[in-house]
Amino acid sequence: MARFELVTDRKGIRAAQRALKRALNRALPPRPGAYTIGYPGGKIERSKLRANSRIWYRGQIVRNAGAPRFWNAFGLTNELATNRSNHIKVEINSLLMGSSRRFGGMFAREAGRGFALLHSGKVGGGRPGIGKKEFVASFNGKQVSVFDADRPSSPRSAFLIARLDDPQAVNAIAEFVLAVARFKDQDSLDDSGTLTRKQLKAKALAARFKPRSMLQQVVMYERNPYVSAYAKRRANGHCDLCGNRAPFAFKGNPFLECHHIDRLADNGDDSVHNTVALCPNCHRRMHLTFTTADIDHLRRQASR
Ligand SMILES: [Zn+2]
Ligand SMILES: [Zn+2]
Repeated sequence: MARFELVTDRKGIRAAQRALKRALNRALPPRPGAYTIGYPGGKIERSKLRANSRIWYRGQIVRNAGAPRFWNAFGLTNELATNRSNHIKVEINSLLMGSSRRFGGMFAREAGRGFALLHSGKVGGGRPGIGKKEFVASFNGKQVSVFDADRPSSPRSAFLIARLDDPQAVNAIAEFVLAVARFKDQDSLDDSGTLTRKQLKAKALAARFKPRSMLQQVVMYERNPYVSAYAKRRANGHCDLCGNRAPFAFKGNPFLECHHIDRLADNGDDSVHNTVALCPNCHRRMHLTFTTADIDHLRRQASR
């Protein structure tokens, strides 16, 4: 592990924060418009932001707080909206002087090099299941040892987010912000089973309006139309798994869906012996639960 020294003196922290700002100002143009930024316990109205296509940034110095600090807030640009409060995905804060393990963010430097931005992995708002341990386990960033001159015997490990003199620094910060966002989104889905209906409704109502979109590549298989037509004819209006009648008629025929017992993606054949006709419920079931008993049953149906 590379060895980093925590920056704790007032002058050093101010210089590191300036280096962070310089990098952000260079990479993130001012975003037109005024935005409301929400954080636990309050919001900032009509705020000016800087943003590229991936992340937005808003920073300020917070003096009137128990822990006076440089406050650096980041969020996702494709979630930005002017007509509602915008959520911060991650804050990277530093005390004006000294160090605090309450904050995940920190400035440090490696011998003979410029400032670096690090983060302990302490993310999230205290909800069950969201915490440092889970994030550290899920994020595959580079971990380094950070030495604190005031506590030389207890170095901490932290993620090296970016070297602030690296022209790619803001890209690296964006990767971190996106990783935190993915982590939080996934976790909020995972905890849904433990919430009351009322809590779940509150979370669902607070969800962002514009889902993130991403392109996905899908391999398509050419299918022989006679194979599926024959499987449906053979099923004679009844599902090959549950035996019930097709739930509705479509274009004059009982509606059943063709299913390959061995998936085409697993090198299964597009043949009548590997194809069955299922009701939509059973089709979904076969894609989620595939038990040996169901598969054996379908093989018998397909060999009729
Ligand atoms: Zn069925
Ligand atoms: Zn299928």
